[in-house]
Amino acid sequence: MLGFLLRGGCSPLVCLWALLLPLVSLHRLNQHGRRGHAGMNRPKLLLLSFDGFRWDYVDRVPTPNFRSIMNEGVTVEQVENAYITKTFPNHYSLVTGLYAETHGIVANEMYDPVLNRSFSMETDSIYDSRWWEEAVPLWVTIQKAGGRSGAAMWPGSDVRIHGMYPTQFLQYNASISFETRVERIIEWFSAPNEEAVDFGVLYWEEPDESGHNLGPQSPLMDEVIAGIDEKLGFLINELKKAGLYEKVNLIVTSDHGMTQLFTDNIIELDEYVSRDLYTWVDKSPVVGILPKEGKLEEVYNKLVDANPNMVVYKKEEIPKHFHYQHNNRIMPIIIEAKEGWTVMQNRTGPFMLGNHGYDNTLRSMQPVFVARGPAFRQNYVKTSMRSVDLYPLMCHILSIRPMPNNGSLLNVKDLLYPELVPTTPSTPPRVNQYSYAPVVGSFISVVMVLGFLVFYIRQVTLKQLPSLKHRSREMSQPLLQEDLHL
Ligand SMILES: [Zn+2]
Repeated sequence: MLGFLLRGGCSPLVCLWALLLPLVSLHRLNQHGRRGHAGMNRPKLLLLSFDGFRWDYVDRVPTPNFRSIMNEGVTVEQVENAYITKTFPNHYSLVTGLYAETHGIVANEMYDPVLNRSFSMETDSIYDSRWWEEAVPLWVTIQKAGGRSGAAMWPGSDVRIHGMYPTQFLQYNASISFETRVERIIEWFSAPNEEAVDFGVLYWEEPDESGHNLGPQSPLMDEVIAGIDEKLGFLINELKKAGLYEKVNLIVTSDHGMTQLFTDNIIELDEYVSRDLYTWVDKSPVVGILPKEGKLEEVYNKLVDANPNMVVYKKEEIPKHFHYQHNNRIMPIIIEAKEGWTVMQNRTGPFMLGNHGYDNTLRSMQPVFVARGPAFRQNYVKTSMRSVDLYPLMCHILSIRPMPNNGSLLNVKDLLYPELVPTTPSTPPRVNQYSYAPVVGSFISVVMVLGFLVFYIRQVTLKQLPSLKHRSREMSQPLLQEDLHL
């Protein structure tokens, strides 16, 4: 280019454009680079759980908002969640990547023989940190890595765990509407740079509650499911209004599914074993039985072949694939009802028309999973994953080093756009980690100086040697080129 200019082969306007073009291109490249790195270094992720939203509910009634996420993002058809398929164990698995035996929240109702304490999701016992500290939830890990998190009612998120709460959180209160929870989440993600959260968790109690009360086969569930889709639509709208929809990676999933129960399908333990011989720890359909001292064999023998609609395990016999054995809080005997059956002591207790908690390989126990956002592929359907795989995936998106976990990023990495996710999951989020600005700035300066010199030399030469002006015109006439060499 310089040679061309020196020979006087362009008009001043073309020369100016020739000089500016690379500058403009470099500026745009630099801008793009900065955006790309800002996006990579401050990724946003919102994990939403609709409690008890079974995987096939999306096909039962029109669910346009779920559909739009599926079209714009990814769907996993079959998610194997954690045994037992209950709310607290599975919500903790989602944010730790651990099976219940490892993270320690083994049921909604527990007894810890070492602490000599009981845990119930119905009482304030859940605020005792000791129940939760066998694992580290993702919000603690990201905060230790310098990030920020926000939690709206996620089980365990209002408990101090390893000395920390989420950066922003709501104290659990079932009467706070979904819309209010969403508004808080939007506020937290929209806060000024230094205060904005990177990771959010949002929980809603439905359609679990209706599923228990009505039973999933009830036609009344159609309206409940349509209502959940509307709630998802509300969230999508609010994200769009706040300018967050294209920035935030949104994962919509659940803890478990739901199956229909029948009043004829009840197993009454009082028929087989005296209440004096054991303590009833966890509820149906996987019942935790703590035999009185010295009574383990007696209780087991009375139950093991008592009813064909339940399976009775001594703790050490629980099948390995459940990953539900190695924890003090798992009782010496567990009873697992077959699908659709309810275990009670007798028929005087409350009866539900729908329930979950059964074998996690049953399709009816499995949750929905859809996701969209800058990290996710579009219109992509994956056959299967385990819910524990979600944790390393989220850590990868958030660019933080995962804690030891039972999941595998390799199993689920195909859900992501390879070029839009960080390649170094161990690196904590940092702003503008790499900048091309100094290099580009120096290059622009050199080009500008050279440009100025070219113009200056050309002008001086033309003034001093007017005949060259004439000869430069002749250069464009091939027939006269020979003259130039004379
Ligand atoms: Zn439930």
